[in-house]
Amino acid sequence: MMIQTARGVRDILPEEAEVWHFLEETAITLFGLYGYQEVRTPLFEKSGLFSRAVGETTDIVEKEMYTFTDRGGESLSLRPEGTASVVRAFLEAGLTRQLPWRVCYRGPMFRYERPQKGRYRQFHQLGCELLGPAGPLADAEQMAMILDYLRRVGLGEGLTLEINSLGCGACRPGYREGLVGYLRSVPGDAGSPLCENCRRRLRENPLRVLDCKLPECRAVAARAPVMRDHLCPPCADHFRGLVAELEGLALPYVLNPLMVRGLDYYTRTAFEVTTTRLGAQNAVAAGGRYDSLVAQLGGPEVPAIGFAMGLERLALLLAESPRAAAAPAAYVVAVGEAAELLGARVAASLRGAGLRVVADLMGGSMKSQMKRADRSGAPVTLILGEEEAAKGQVMVKNMAARTQRILAWEEVLPYLDTPSVRGG
Ligand SMILES: [Zn+2]
Ligand SMILES: [Zn+2]
Repeated sequence: MMIQTARGVRDILPEEAEVWHFLEETAITLFGLYGYQEVRTPLFEKSGLFSRAVGETTDIVEKEMYTFTDRGGESLSLRPEGTASVVRAFLEAGLTRQLPWRVCYRGPMFRYERPQKGRYRQFHQLGCELLGPAGPLADAEQMAMILDYLRRVGLGEGLTLEINSLGCGACRPGYREGLVGYLRSVPGDAGSPLCENCRRRLRENPLRVLDCKLPECRAVAARAPVMRDHLCPPCADHFRGLVAELEGLALPYVLNPLMVRGLDYYTRTAFEVTTTRLGAQNAVAAGGRYDSLVAQLGGPEVPAIGFAMGLERLALLLAESPRAAAAPAAYVVAVGEAAELLGARVAASLRGAGLRVVADLMGGSMKSQMKRADRSGAPVTLILGEEEAAKGQVMVKNMAARTQRILAWEEVLPYLDTPSVRGG
């Protein structure tokens, strides 16, 4: 019996991993232009970090965390999201006087959820956190950066920026009370019209009722009071400021009063970038302000804003857009010991110049090696037999034109570098 992966996880095979590299490297480079530097935090933390940051009564902490006791008797959890660890790292490194602090992260997160198409128990996020600035310009800068990123990776079409305000500790409790009053007052055929999940949310996390996807709950949510009408003056000012910044930057946006967050630490601005390209409206990036989290984790008052994007979804979107497959620049086919040795030298010199060169190394006949060269997609195959090896020569075959020529091995690099060859 072969052992397979655990339920809800999967391998990223090399072809897809190429896409992931592209997504990650473009992100790290672009975020770098805005001043973000990468931080790498551990995959597991003391469980208390997440119950304090994310919230005891959230689905994540109650039902979805991978929590275990290690051999020393300590309760640890695999990280279910990135922000709590980043803030912990910020405080632990004593950086509270070095604001603004801009960091990005990438890597796996873990949640015990029901596996579905596109949803995994180990999933991967790219995210950014900006600690320090309190004003709405910080929010607008992040939104502009996300859109900039999505355009650069070729996913700029069909995006919508949705924004909302979730209020703060001063104004949210009052709104929450009003919302619960409304939700309890809505009549249904047999008691509450809300789904079973939402009846539970009504007690524990009533804002979540607003983003339930079931039609019966959406009908109720559509007429619910909205947070934006109940903001305290500072929250209302912040939201007005954000709208003004977005308009100043000419970034189109949509107000979505039903956008809430499953995590307790969000305050004020919540935002999502959605796309219709995968059928239904799907978020490709989600973020928001969390002005009280640093203090909640034992630090001083430090306002902050961050977002995350799911790599699985980005990769899926990108797979839908035609991209050139990552073929090598050249494939080396060699028969005989001397030819293999010369092939290795030629390949090394080409790699030294930054070209991707794949050597066959499977041995066997010229014919079988040529089949693999064809399959590799390389525009050029370097063929070496006994005769070529003895003369220090290489037969260079242009795979598309089906033409070939003999070159001294030192001439291969300048030949591959000519525009007609590089262009395929
Ligand atoms: Zn407020
Ligand atoms: Zn519901």
